[in-house]
Amino acid sequence: MIHEEDFQLIKHLTEIQGCVGNETRIREYILNHVKTYCDKTEIDKIGNLICYLNGKKDTSTSKPKILLDAHMDEIGFMVRYIDKNGFIRFAALGGQNMRILPGQTVIIHSSSGKDIIGVIGEKALHLISKEERKKVSSIEDLFIDIGLSSDKEVKEHVSIGDYITLKQECHPFINHERIFAKALDNRLSCFVLIKLIKEFASLRNELDKDLIFLFAVQEEIGVRGSTVGAYKLNPDLAIVLDVTHAIDYPGVSKDKYQECYLGCGAAIVIGPNLDPKMTRMLINVARDEKIPFVLEAEPRPTPTDARAIQMTKSGIPCALIEIPLRYMHTNIETFEYKDALHVIKLIKLFLLKERDVMKLNG
Ligand SMILES: [Zn+2]
Repeated sequence: MIHEEDFQLIKHLTEIQGCVGNETRIREYILNHVKTYCDKTEIDKIGNLICYLNGKKDTSTSKPKILLDAHMDEIGFMVRYIDKNGFIRFAALGGQNMRILPGQTVIIHSSSGKDIIGVIGEKALHLISKEERKKVSSIEDLFIDIGLSSDKEVKEHVSIGDYITLKQECHPFINHERIFAKALDNRLSCFVLIKLIKEFASLRNELDKDLIFLFAVQEEIGVRGSTVGAYKLNPDLAIVLDVTHAIDYPGVSKDKYQECYLGCGAAIVIGPNLDPKMTRMLINVARDEKIPFVLEAEPRPTPTDARAIQMTKSGIPCALIEIPLRYMHTNIETFEYKDALHVIKLIKLFLLKERDVMKLNG
C-alpha cells in the first residue's frame, strides 16, 4: 500500500502541468521540494534543473561525478488556429495517441497566465457515417471547445502558441498498490530522484561519489534538455531513469516485445547505447540484494536521455533503469508502487556499494 506522503508527492508531480517547452511550474515544484537537501541548485539556459549533492568530505582523492537523469517534461499540445466560430485547432507536442483524444478534458495555459478549461469535441456517433467510424481522427480533424461562440471571444483568453495539457487527476486503484495518472512518463522517475536526494542528504558520510541530479526538459521532442545538460556537466558516469512498457494486458504479445509487467521490479536495459560493465554492476547489485528486475534488450539508440548523454563530449558511460508502465502516453498511465521502491533501492545500493565505478573508465 502506497504511503500517503509518497502518494501526495506523485499526485502533485503528475497533476502539475509541464509540457515540452513549458516546464516552469513543474521545475519550480521540484526545486522547492529538494533545495534544502542539496549543496547547490541551478537552472541552466535551456531550463534544466540541476541539483548537486556532494559525498563525504575527503580531500585526498577526487570523487567520481555521477549524473542521475530524469526528464520532467510531459507530452502536450499547442494552439495552432482559432476559427471564426471559436473552435481551437491544435498541434501535438510529442507522441500523442490520437485514438484517445476525442472526449478528453484539456487545460489551455494561456500566455496571459490563466488556465482555461476546454474539451476535445467530436461529432456525435449518430452523425458519423459507417465508413468514418472505422477511422481514427487525425489531429487536424480535432478541435477544442472552450464554451465560447466566436473567434473574437476566444481570442480574449487564448493566443496562438499557447500550451495545452490533458486534465487528469492522479488516483490509486483499489488496494492502493497501483496508481493511474497522466505524465507518469516521466514524473515517476522524478519521484525516484527526489526520494534519492532526500535519502542521500542524510547518507553523505557513506558516499564516496558526488551526485548531480538532472531534471531535464524537452525529452519528448528529441532529448534536447539532456543534450545540453550532459555537455555542461560532463560527468564520469550517468544513470538515466525512464519508464518502459508493461505489456501485461490483453492483445500484446511478449514474443514480439519483451518480458515486462507491473510488479516485476526494475527493468535494466542492455544494448549498444548502454555501458556493459556498468549495466553488469547494476545486475549484480540487484541479484546480491534480491531486488526483483527484468532485462530488456534494446538494439537501437534508446528513446531516452541516454541516447544523448552517451555521446556527449568524449563519451559518458550510461546505464538505463526503467519503471514498468501501462498505457504510455495516455492520461491513464498506470504503475505499481513497489516497482518504484525497487528502483530506488537498486540505485541507492549501487551508489553506496560500488566503490570501483571509476574502473569503468579504464
Ligand atoms: Zn514519453
